[in-house]
This record gives sequence, C-alpha cells and structure tokens, in this order.
Amino acid sequence: MAGFAMCAACRRKHDDPADRRFHAQPIACPDCGPTLELVAPGLRETGDHAVRRAQSLLADEQIAAVKGLGGYHVACDARDVSAVSELRRPKRRGEKPFAVMARDLDVARELVSITDIETMLLTDVRKPVVLLPRLDGSVAAAVAPGNPDLGVMLPYTPLHALLLGAPGDPGPDLLVMTSGNLAGEPIVTDDDEALSRLGDIADAFLRHDRPIQVSCDDSVTRVVAGIELPVRRSRGYAPLPVALPFDVAPVLAAGADLKNTVAVASGRFAWLSQHVGDLDDLATQDALTVSEQHLEELTGVRPGVIVADAHPGYRSTPGPDSTPTDASSAACSTITCTSPRSWASTGSVSTSRSSGSPREMLDPAAVDGRGTLTMHAAVGASLAAGVRLPALRCTVLAVER
Ligand SMILES: [Zn+2]
Repeated sequence: MAGFAMCAACRRKHDDPADRRFHAQPIACPDCGPTLELVAPGLRETGDHAVRRAQSLLADEQIAAVKGLGGYHVACDARDVSAVSELRRPKRRGEKPFAVMARDLDVARELVSITDIETMLLTDVRKPVVLLPRLDGSVAAAVAPGNPDLGVMLPYTPLHALLLGAPGDPGPDLLVMTSGNLAGEPIVTDDDEALSRLGDIADAFLRHDRPIQVSCDDSVTRVVAGIELPVRRSRGYAPLPVALPFDVAPVLAAGADLKNTVAVASGRFAWLSQHVGDLDDLATQDALTVSEQHLEELTGVRPGVIVADAHPGYRSTPGPDSTPTDASSAACSTITCTSPRSWASTGSVSTSRSSGSPREMLDPAAVDGRGTLTMHAAVGASLAAGVRLPALRCTVLAVER
C-alpha cells in the first residue's frame, strides 16, 4: 500500500490511538485507496460501474481477465457451454479441468457433495481449490471433461466477492476461474503484460492499480480418508515451514521438471516455494530463479548444498559444465551458489550418489560413510518434489565446506 498516500481523513484515523484503525497500515478509503477499472476495446469503466459491467459481460458469454491476489485469472460463466468451450481453445488446455469459483457454499452444494471437513477447507482463510465429487449436470461439460471431480473454491478477495455478488444480484453465481496464462507459461501479474499475453483470450480486463509483488497460483487440495492431502501447495500454504524430524544443514532443492517447486531447508524446518510450473518455458525458468531468491530472502537460509534430480533432461538440473564427474568421491568442492543460474559457472563439482526408498534415505541411521550428504540430498529432493517418491536417486551437486 506504499503507493497509496493516505488522505487527511484516513491519516486522522491512523494517528488517533482511540480509533480502531490506529496504526492500521493498509488503511485506505475510496478517495485514497486502490481503484477498480474495467477495460475493453472502446470501453473503460471505473469503480462500481466496472464491476457491474464485468457482471453483464460475463452473463453475455464474454470472457474476462480478473486481477487477483497472486496474478490474473481468466473467468467465464461456468454454466455457459459456449463460453467455456471458447475459453478452452486459446488456453490450449486440452482436456485439463478448470477450477470454478462459487458465490457461496449454497451454490457449491448444487455442484458437488461436500463433507464437514471439506466445508472447513472451502471456508478456511486460505481458500484453496478443493477437489470434490461432482453432481450430474451442475456445470458445462467442458469445465472438467470426463472428470468425476470438480475443483471448487469460494471468493477470497473483495473483488471476487463484488464480482460474484449476493443472491439476487445480476451476473453468474459460478465462474470458471483459471490461471491467467497460456499453457506452460507462468501466471500473469503485470497489467501491461496481461493486455499483451491474455489479449487473445479475454474480451475485457477487470483490474485494480495495486501491484502484485509475488506471483502465486491457487492452492489445490483434497480430502483422503478424512485427512487433507494438498495436491498443489501455493497461495495460503507456501512458504509456511514444514517441520523436519532431524536437523539438516542449509540446503537448496531445485525440484522437478514438471510442476516444479523449489525448497530450502535449515535446522528443523524446510520451506517450499509456491507452485512454479512446468520448466519447458523460458519465462517459467526465470520464475524458478525469482522464487528461489525470494525464498532465501524470506527465510535467511543461505544454502551450502544444492540438490537436484540427476535426470539429464531436467531444466532444473545444472548444465553440462557442472555435471558431476566423480561419483565415488567423498571429497567436496568449496562452492557457493546463490541461484540455479549460477550453477553453470561454479566450476569443479564433486558428488556422492545413493539410491533407495525415501524412508531408508530419510532415516539418519541409514546414512552411509559418505554421511550427511546422502541424507541431505534425499531430504532435499523429497521436499522439492513435494511428495515422497517410491524410489529416489539423487546427486549432491555442490557443497560448501
Ligand atoms: Zn482515505
């Protein structure tokens, strides 16, 4: 909110110890706070008019790009067959399912069956997309073709609440809300970039003038056997720390090639980044670097060990210049890496390798003579993958003495 100078009225409230907004940093009002805007060819509306126009466009089979918390969504009426089919074409999403945002729990219950614990997740402050068994005929078939589940979330920003309105308001009460990107690219956060990259998809742009600092997709979760099983830890979940059962040295795990996340760990905690995406796009590879640097900045962890999958085709694996050459060596090069981009210029690298089940490798008692490197690599790779893999083969790429 640094870019929005307080008006005199807000300043009085901010400075008055008797006022409930005393020292409330995000204080703002319609005079001095962010403003809404809807832009389309030959059209510009602001404030309430922007929201009402967006509602009427969406009701008229149009597609709108909507600026959210961690990036743009692309939205259309989820009950409108032709609008959803139209959205699927430029998104190049094939048969991959879209998530939907329902006005409230009552609307969601018309679409899917929801248990008590799933209700808690839907209404949780993190507001994830929850995968739920769908009911027949609830949404356009093109939303999630052939899929027995539907990803549902509830409004989580004031703009979403305004757009979906209250019962009786005009406009759709159920929207497809899919990440504002083309297949393989990172989610769009910048307003100008949105116009150029989403211009072929969206008929209109509903946006505000508050910049997005960190891109972050929606989190996806589900309940299995009564327990939450996150499918994609992102907005609201990352980078909250994950507790570890034993100490680790400062380590960076570069993650996989598809559905990448990066992780750092130190002591008894690990921090996973938000969902980065598939690394077959240059912009996504840049997003990986930004996420990794942001994670180090937030946590203060300065990794002395970097681990990555040994697969030679992975873009998260270092280039040929730093390919490990001595698999049997227990010696370690002195090396300092601050970013995956610097791997190619780090020079001589030694390595230790191991394989086995994650459980064996995560057990400190199972660590062999080359010791902690093996363990760190296993921990890092597991963390970066976000799941425990059935079998794990990883390589310590660099160690700082
Ligand atoms: Zn004000």
